[in-house]
Amino acid sequence: MEIFGPVQSRRFGISLGINHLPPKVCSYACVYCQLGRTNRLSIEAAAYADPEQIYQAVNERLKELPQTPDYLTFVSNGEPCLDNQLGSAIQALKKLGIKIAVITNASMLWQSEIRERLSCADAVSLKVDSVQEAAWRKINRPHGRLDLEVVMAGMRVFALTYHGKLMTETMLVPGINTSPAHLRACAQFIAELQPEMAYLALPLRAPAESWVEAPDQQAAGKAYEIFVREFARTSLMADLPPTGLTSTQDALQELVSTLKVHPMEEGEIRAYLRQNELADNTLESLLALKRIRSIPYREKTFYSAAVNQD
Ligand code: SF4
Repeated sequence: MEIFGPVQSRRFGISLGINHLPPKVCSYACVYCQLGRTNRLSIEAAAYADPEQIYQAVNERLKELPQTPDYLTFVSNGEPCLDNQLGSAIQALKKLGIKIAVITNASMLWQSEIRERLSCADAVSLKVDSVQEAAWRKINRPHGRLDLEVVMAGMRVFALTYHGKLMTETMLVPGINTSPAHLRACAQFIAELQPEMAYLALPLRAPAESWVEAPDQQAAGKAYEIFVREFARTSLMADLPPTGLTSTQDALQELVSTLKVHPMEEGEIRAYLRQNELADNTLESLLALKRIRSIPYREKTFYSAAVNQD
């Protein structure tokens, strides 16, 4: 379990990340996943992190920060709902008086206990990349026991009963989910959920599969136009925002913890090293020690500390 950041998040402002899963346990194996391939494809929830330990770790980290984050965000090495103690962890963290967000792939909301686990979070982001069976299988590569109709039904029930800030995220992958018919169907389903905001994202960080490409500006703009016609509260996240990583005590450890779930581009890492008076060749040293790895993508070089990028 690791606490990382805070980083600047478009959805959650200043966000302190909680990564409470071992790499990489997920019910999906998305082709664009920035954590690399899923090596533990699972829909069985298990006890991964002790809620009290999460609380203690977050509490300690908060004491080091110059500013209270806007959100404590569960953004894991996989699917956070696979931790059967997620609900207790959220309840424990509530004592800190900071809003709590969970980013989930929403694939298991058909289970009442998973909906219950999420119900006390202040904000929940659901993944909705596709509502068409073939495209869903191609883009999310779900666990074999998942059924799209059931997954969508679970989201509908959750959206009806959840009282916090609901949002959705749709990753656009050309050739899979960007045809007008596909986008329209996806947006119509999202309109049923009535989230506060539907975000359209592009695979701008190095993906699990090297053939994944981001749509160009024009295609992304077209996708946005189709979406917004069906659901007005749509926002296109067209560029890579600065990570905005701030360090407190152990700048190097904070960088590596962040890179486990949030790959960063070379220029950004070098700027962070300079800001924190770390030697410029720290990057090369981390590479030589195999604590991080480099991933070229879209004429940039990203670095990740995820263990399963192959
Ligand atoms: S993007 Fe999220 S849901 Fe998809 S494989 Fe990665 S961790 Fe799992």
